[in-house]
Amino acid sequence: MTAMSNETRLREDICRFGRSLFERGLTPGSSGNISVRLDGGGWLVTPTNASLGFLDPAKLSQLDETGRLISGDAPTKEVPLHTALYDTRGSARAIVHLHSTHSVALSMLPEIDPRAALPPMTAYYLMKCGATALVPYYRPGDPAVADAIKGLAGKYSSVLLANHGPVVAGDTLEAAVFATEELEETAKLYLLLRGMNPRYLSPEQVKDLANVFGVTLPEHGHEHGH
Ligand SMILES: [Zn+2]
Repeated sequence: MTAMSNETRLREDICRFGRSLFERGLTPGSSGNISVRLDGGGWLVTPTNASLGFLDPAKLSQLDETGRLISGDAPTKEVPLHTALYDTRGSARAIVHLHSTHSVALSMLPEIDPRAALPPMTAYYLMKCGATALVPYYRPGDPAVADAIKGLAGKYSSVLLANHGPVVAGDTLEAAVFATEELEETAKLYLLLRGMNPRYLSPEQVKDLANVFGVTLPEHGHEHGH
């Protein structure tokens, strides 16, 4: 497969996944953005003020390695969220950022552990998201949010921005989308069960997943419980 046809496919995939996320109510209006690292260097990014439901493959923003726009519409103003995660997490090939309701709700709860925003509720959450870090609230456009993400040193593939939404990296676009959906569904489960004293996975069950599926959790992941 040539580099050119690969880029054409990636452009179509960004629009296809974007429409799917939008149509299922996972990011409203013109919120949310997607980026993919290109084989030849640089990125494809969704444009500013664009709804993920109505993207045009030809108008996606193409950035060079330095972040300069080389074709398409002006990129999302949230590009620094993406570059902060790419810079610190070398394996990241795609990043999805949504304003998804349950994840945003979770980010505002007082008991959330910033090193494990969700307890070990399901095997698939751990396998797709690992642990999720919570970054404090910053007003839109504040460059400090990128510094806060960089401060996590690439240990987390899923980061929750308080009062804002998730930023999730994957080694493919599909993996990043599926992990973002898993995070949103797990946040929904947490809210459904809050105050009901649910049984989460035990440390032994988490260790078993780590052994069998190679799930790696950052040092502080889940040790505090909820
Ligand atoms: Zn946002």
